[in-house]
Amino acid sequence: MKKIDWDNLGFDINAAEKMFVANYKDGRWDEGEIVDYGKISIYPSAVVLNYGQGIFEGMKAYRTKDGRIAMFRPYDNAKRLNMGCERLCMPTIDEDFFVKSIESLLKVNEDYIPPYGKGDLYIRPILFGSGEMLGVNPATEYTFIIYMSPVGPYFKGGFNGIKLEIRKDYHRAPLYGSGGIKAIGNYAVSLYPKKVVKRNGYDEVIYLDAKTSTYIEEVGSANFFMLKDGVLSTPRLSGSILPGITRDSVLKIARDVFGLTPLERDIRYDEIYDADELFCTGTAAVITPISLVAYDGEEHTIGDGRPGEITKKMYDELKGIQLGEKEDRYGWFYEVK
Ligand SMILES: *Cc1c(COP(=O)(O)O)cnc(C)c1O
Repeated sequence: MKKIDWDNLGFDINAAEKMFVANYKDGRWDEGEIVDYGKISIYPSAVVLNYGQGIFEGMKAYRTKDGRIAMFRPYDNAKRLNMGCERLCMPTIDEDFFVKSIESLLKVNEDYIPPYGKGDLYIRPILFGSGEMLGVNPATEYTFIIYMSPVGPYFKGGFNGIKLEIRKDYHRAPLYGSGGIKAIGNYAVSLYPKKVVKRNGYDEVIYLDAKTSTYIEEVGSANFFMLKDGVLSTPRLSGSILPGITRDSVLKIARDVFGLTPLERDIRYDEIYDADELFCTGTAAVITPISLVAYDGEEHTIGDGRPGEITKKMYDELKGIQLGEKEDRYGWFYEVK
């Protein structure tokens, strides 16, 4: 076992010892195997390297207070992965196979799950066209890999609030493109806009819709929420927004636990300047408060610049369900036995 500094975990790769690898050939997946984490060999003509035929998922394993191992809605990740596989002409994967493979890997990597309260074990399934091809066509061979890494917060200083810049000159994903799935290419095009806003002193980009540059889409790789005059709103799933499982959970908690009536609608970028609270959501980001938004050189502090009441309550409720400490009326808590 590697030495890990549990008290200083960031969102960095610190791969757990074992990974899971399955291969698709002649029209079927093999049963897969657990091997040492390490380099893989691949043809230069693999479709993933030339044409980006690849997809990933992001999940976490949690250590509960009483030492159990839990996941959160893992079958929803399997479903979303499969939706993406269809879109990228890749073979889907059996949902039970997906979840069971993660569970068996978690058991051998158990020592890498941070102690309660120190962080989580991030789970990264990837699936890509590993077969050779010269023209732009789907591969005939595929590889499915799961690796894991202990992580702390996605944003450094995260719960104090992050500062974001709205950009009209860079888009993440066009309508009817691949924004609604975790296609690897979506993230390559986000590197440059992120570099630009970092240079300006901000943590991430707020992306607007690619057609009109008017309506909020997402925050880097997290979904966006606004609380204003007691109403919680989030951008509707236009097709170019990633349907976050955290987003869906927040909408349900807002309705069923907090008695709010959340709206999924088009949100103009200039509506958010005087919001009462803003936050973003994701497996990695959890619930991250947004303390400031900038557009075209002007900065707008959100509320008093500190995490809002609903933001904090939402974080506690979501974390509580994930750790098995709050009532789970939806069957989201998934114990790994
Ligand atoms: C993964 C991701 C999210 C968050 O999805 P979760 O299922 O909540 O983790 C949001 N936006 C983008 C672009 C993502 O890649």
